[in-house]
Amino acid sequence: MTETPDDLDAYARELDEAHIFHSWSAQTPAHAAAVSIKSGLGSRVWDHAGNQYLDFSSQHVNVNLGHQHPALLDAIRVQSQLLATISPPTANITRGEAAKRLAAIAPDGFNRVFFTNGGSDANENAMRMARLYTGRDKILSAYRSYHGNTGSSIVATGDPRRIPNEFARGHVHFFGPYLYRSEFWATTPEQESERALQHLRRVVEAEGPQSIAAVLLEPVPGTPGVMLPPPGYLSGVRQLCDEYGILLIFDEVMCGFGRTGEWFAFDAFDARPDLITFAKGVNSGYVPIGGVIIDDPIAAFFNERVFPGGLTYSGHPLAAATVVASLDTIASEGILDHVRDIGENHLGPSLRALAERHPSIGEVRGRGVFWVLELVTDRQTREPVPAATMARIRAGLVERGLLPFVSENRIHVFPPCVVTAAEIAEAVVIYDAVLTSELR
Ligand code: PLP
Repeated sequence: MTETPDDLDAYARELDEAHIFHSWSAQTPAHAAAVSIKSGLGSRVWDHAGNQYLDFSSQHVNVNLGHQHPALLDAIRVQSQLLATISPPTANITRGEAAKRLAAIAPDGFNRVFFTNGGSDANENAMRMARLYTGRDKILSAYRSYHGNTGSSIVATGDPRRIPNEFARGHVHFFGPYLYRSEFWATTPEQESERALQHLRRVVEAEGPQSIAAVLLEPVPGTPGVMLPPPGYLSGVRQLCDEYGILLIFDEVMCGFGRTGEWFAFDAFDARPDLITFAKGVNSGYVPIGGVIIDDPIAAFFNERVFPGGLTYSGHPLAAATVVASLDTIASEGILDHVRDIGENHLGPSLRALAERHPSIGEVRGRGVFWVLELVTDRQTREPVPAATMARIRAGLVERGLLPFVSENRIHVFPPCVVTAAEIAEAVVIYDAVLTSELR
């Protein structure tokens, strides 16, 4: 019999280093500094030694209902005892109930759902639907975006992870609004909106509107830095798409399901998409799932035509059961109201107060439990804090008991939707201490 090692955290890291091939990384130097996580509850996780961490990244920005929510665990238990898996072409109540609930929270006229394994293949299939429906080829998406890691999704992605992966064709990028670092010399949100729309119009005209199947957009871009759309931007994109018969796909994979205090982030803005992609927060990631919610005319287009796509785990019952439990819990526990209260009365004000004490915080932006601190070496020049300093900030936060989401020169503040005001106060003390020690 193998002996159980004394130091289980060291053992977890040893296994990780020996056998896990990691995402988006060179494999050496190894991940010696990786946090070992044994268990979790609500907004916290623990290692084997009993050290606790506030999970202010919600893992991969997916654990919206927090760790080990009893309703979700119960849904998995009940479904696993009934039937643990099933193939896509069968009718199944759990899968159907999940789709029915997603249709109910989407705008009127969205009645069908295509389930996938996660967000990348949700976007992959939404783009395929748009191309088949319009008979056009090109997909327009923003440079500041992340849409996933499959063939077309990684090329639709704007961030530099796209570049070594450019094997799909028909993808064109444009700049979305980002007033703090405006590409358009804008000084007000209104100007930024108008000029970003004019830029998009020029890209559409230059590419040939008749060749464009869809515009794919995160209504509030997450990984690129939580840029809330300025007034009129999303509705302006909608109008432009309508003018040229282009479909609009909203990627709600990260920003949906309570993160901004809405079911869908676009609910707070005046625009209706044709396809909605989802994953992550739809079931807090307890079992992998994603999908596309499809507007009726697009779904009907495939009534007599074959949709050439499918997945073994499309609508997996364990995942579907957690979708049902998760959407019911968001409604029954008043999670959307809670997130709005947290954003407006706790998280937003305390991050702004932090910015008053730290000149290194160039801008605080966000809503709900979807915030970012943009760190600069100089508020006038807005020079980003260098990568080496950001690495020290990340390590300092972990050392003080907070799991952060750090990207480029930004600390993204992404706690679970169930975070409490007391946990926010605790986290702000940690951010404060680390910024003081690293940037003063
Ligand atoms: N779309 C957005 C906006 C995302 O943030 C992500 C993942 O972070 C994806 C798509 C890809 O989802 P997945 O990693 O589940 O494939």
